[in-house]
Amino acid sequence: MRSIVCATAFFAAACLGQTIDKTKLVDLTYSFNEKTIYWPNAKGFQHRKDTWAVTPAGYWYAAGGFSTDEHGGTHFDSPIHFGQRKTTLDKIPVQRLVGAAAVIDISASASKTRDYRATAQDLANWEKTNGAIPSGSMVLFRTGWSKYWPDRKQYMGSDVPGDVEHLHFPGISKEAAEILVKRGVSGVGIDTASMDYGPSKDFIVHQVLNKADIFGLENIANMERLPAKGATLIALPIKIEDGSGGPVRIIAILP
Ligand SMILES: [Zn+2]
Repeated sequence: MRSIVCATAFFAAACLGQTIDKTKLVDLTYSFNEKTIYWPNAKGFQHRKDTWAVTPAGYWYAAGGFSTDEHGGTHFDSPIHFGQRKTTLDKIPVQRLVGAAAVIDISASASKTRDYRATAQDLANWEKTNGAIPSGSMVLFRTGWSKYWPDRKQYMGSDVPGDVEHLHFPGISKEAAEILVKRGVSGVGIDTASMDYGPSKDFIVHQVLNKADIFGLENIANMERLPAKGATLIALPIKIEDGSGGPVRIIAILP
């Protein structure tokens, strides 16, 4: 309810809180823990609990530290990841981290073919129903792979540490990535470990998107809760200076 009170500057801050219906917030982020899936040659996530106890003085005190590779779990690929001299993690304007979400469901095709890549036709089908993908939006591909998280063998195709030769999971085709560049999207996300499908050796989708200064979102959770269009996404990565990527907290506001 936007009352007359809200029209006055004095109550503006209180009224701002009313503009978001909090029942419509969805967390699209996996927790970071020892099971979090990273690329097979990465070190993964380590959480160190230095103090986790009642102190001799009688009060509770908990503090620790963590270490992580940039690319693992629900994370952000900054354009510099595969785009030389492109934007680093700290330089992405916050305006680009908020936008309309276009959700393209390729789960039926991916369930038949593990190495499925979203096609130009998949994009055309979405646009036929929902209109052109808006510039500045974030396009999310839903493969249905979250049902396997955190089973590394099912999710990645191999659970052998260091094994990058037997990866099998769905991704995006080069042709689809090129269309997304033409549409001027802000970012591209997926519910698998990479925007490029498991067997990829050249990571061409990363190359095409990152060279166009488009960022990536990988290992997205709970995407089945999003409609094809109408949700607003807020994707806030950790602000590492000169970072090529890092953990990101993604939330959606449902329409
Ligand atoms: Zn990445």
